[in-house]
Amino acid sequence: MLPVNPHEGWTPLVPDTMPNGSPDMLISPLRPDLCLSYANTLSWRGTRAPAESLRDFAGLLGWLERAAGMDAAAMREVARWSDRQPRRAARVFAEAIGLREALYRVLSRLAAGTPRRRDLAMLQQALADAPVRRHLVEMRSAYAWRIDTSRPSVPHLLAPVLWSAGDLLAAGDRRRLRQCANDACRWLFIDASRNATRRWCDMASCGNRAKARRHYLKAKGGLI
Ligand SMILES: [Zn+2]
Repeated sequence: MLPVNPHEGWTPLVPDTMPNGSPDMLISPLRPDLCLSYANTLSWRGTRAPAESLRDFAGLLGWLERAAGMDAAAMREVARWSDRQPRRAARVFAEAIGLREALYRVLSRLAAGTPRRRDLAMLQQALADAPVRRHLVEMRSAYAWRIDTSRPSVPHLLAPVLWSAGDLLAAGDRRRLRQCANDACRWLFIDASRNATRRWCDMASCGNRAKARRHYLKAKGGLI
């Protein structure tokens, strides 16, 4: 997949020839751990065949609607545009995946210590290019952020992911950031346990598997 090079700029979702651009996008709810969910859309990173849940641009739009709180009407409009511009949509998708991988590297390194400067610079650039959280609008029984998308690009589509990453890095929660102790899994998660000793993304899957394996190895060695 193509790496994102911030110096080359982001591919705009809407070509200059389209006069009105896409409609404003509403984002609600804004999940604080969204950056982790996005980084985790590639599962089983420690295996030879990681499981990809974002296969194409349409898959990305579906995820943005389901997980990131982007409103369905705006996603439909972007989908209609991408049907007309498949090559440009493929470039935007490649940039979105390149940014996901940079984000994963930043967060996984942060869980163990310090991110690499180059990866952090990519995240910083994407955040600088993302729309600001300025317009809070009322919905029927909730509130949403409204972003202007007159010239949308990856930092616009991934705005809630980027905001979430910036908030995580700038807040104390980063000390609770963990990478799953299952080497095949390597998902990222926030350890909300009282004594901050959680090791697995999910006790029912990765945790039990690790316990079962330890038990098996002990039994095999005649230790129990
Ligand atoms: Zn796991």
